[in-house]
Amino acid sequence: MAARPVHPVTAAATGSATGRGAPALAEELGRTAPDGSEVGFYLHVPFCERRCHYCSFNTAPLPDGAGVRRYLAAAHRELALLGGVPWARAVTVATVFLGGGTPSLLEPEDVGALVDGLRTRFTLAGDAEITIECNPESASRTKLQGYRAAGVSRISLGVQSLDDRLLARLGRLHDARRAHAAFDAARQAGFDNVSVDLMYGLPGLDLPTWRHTLETVLAWMPDHLSAYGLTLDPGSAWASSGVPGLPAEDAVVEQYWALARAAAAHGLEHYEISNYARPRFRSRHNQIYWRAQEYLACGPGACGFVGDLRYGNVRATARYCARLEEGVLPVDDGERLDARQRLAEQLILGLRTADGVPAAWLRRRAEGDGALSRRLRAWREQALLVEHGDHVRLTEAGFLLSDALFVELL
Ligand code: SF4
Repeated sequence: MAARPVHPVTAAATGSATGRGAPALAEELGRTAPDGSEVGFYLHVPFCERRCHYCSFNTAPLPDGAGVRRYLAAAHRELALLGGVPWARAVTVATVFLGGGTPSLLEPEDVGALVDGLRTRFTLAGDAEITIECNPESASRTKLQGYRAAGVSRISLGVQSLDDRLLARLGRLHDARRAHAAFDAARQAGFDNVSVDLMYGLPGLDLPTWRHTLETVLAWMPDHLSAYGLTLDPGSAWASSGVPGLPAEDAVVEQYWALARAAAAHGLEHYEISNYARPRFRSRHNQIYWRAQEYLACGPGACGFVGDLRYGNVRATARYCARLEEGVLPVDDGERLDARQRLAEQLILGLRTADGVPAAWLRRRAEGDGALSRRLRAWREQALLVEHGDHVRLTEAGFLLSDALFVELL
């Protein structure tokens, strides 16, 4: 699956907890109608055959067939309960993202049944972008053909590296040959929208190897490329054990620039800090997050955002299933964002993108904040932040330093 996506299982919350119990939160969700008429839908498949050493996502060991069936039954119950909230029919689901975990461990008929379940309970847009994250070792041509027949329109392939020794060190189950075969299988299955995930800043990764990986992957002509610098997030094995051989910061910066240059040379637009796309192939689903728009969620640990309510599901798969077997939406925590928190989030997410944010938003946030105003002035002088029309955006150099600005926007 993806290396470091902005996805709703890992999205950081900035609001304050509602202080409500779980059943009350489920009721609260039912009463909170979305502001917009279109939403995204994130569906979390938690299972992995093995946990990668850098991974901090909400994963679960792959159970036997009965365990997978229990999860699927719970997910269908959740779709039914969500589809029963009063506003469910008033929104159109514009994008669906099956993320994980490893969604490609599911059989095509199971994926088809989940998409059908969603279509039965909600209005699914005729041109909905439906993405599934796939790991190369579980992405055969036959399976991908089945996903396509089930309505999936986009594949996100977790390649991460083409260095076999590095892949083994990360704990991945595929090698470079298998990654290339999975990409070809996606094309042969008829997918004309295929994204590849890569990682840099990895222990032992040097610039020539990274350049070779980039050139090889870009020669496959993916429609979209996500590339994330390694971060040792809490919950990962490497965060607790440490990992030797991490490249120095200036080496990681060199890898970032090699990526930006290679992607540009192959005609990919750098449209978000970690994402590149051919024209018209931006991830529509992820753009919903970056525009701070609304999305629903299903699955263990999945997070949604509706109106001013951000909510998250129970994380442990067994507890998630048990809650749904009791007939209760598995919402476990929630928070209401106030206007200031909402603006900060819109700014931070929007400034991740090449589109940037309306200049008026940034002015409003900086009013009366001397430190932030000084930082913004300095960044403009250094061409890290630029105007385009009535918007402001970070440049590629600004993307690289963006964390320092985002901290002040909170
Ligand atoms: S495949 Fe690896 S990185 Fe992806 S969710 Fe599973 S353990 Fe995490």
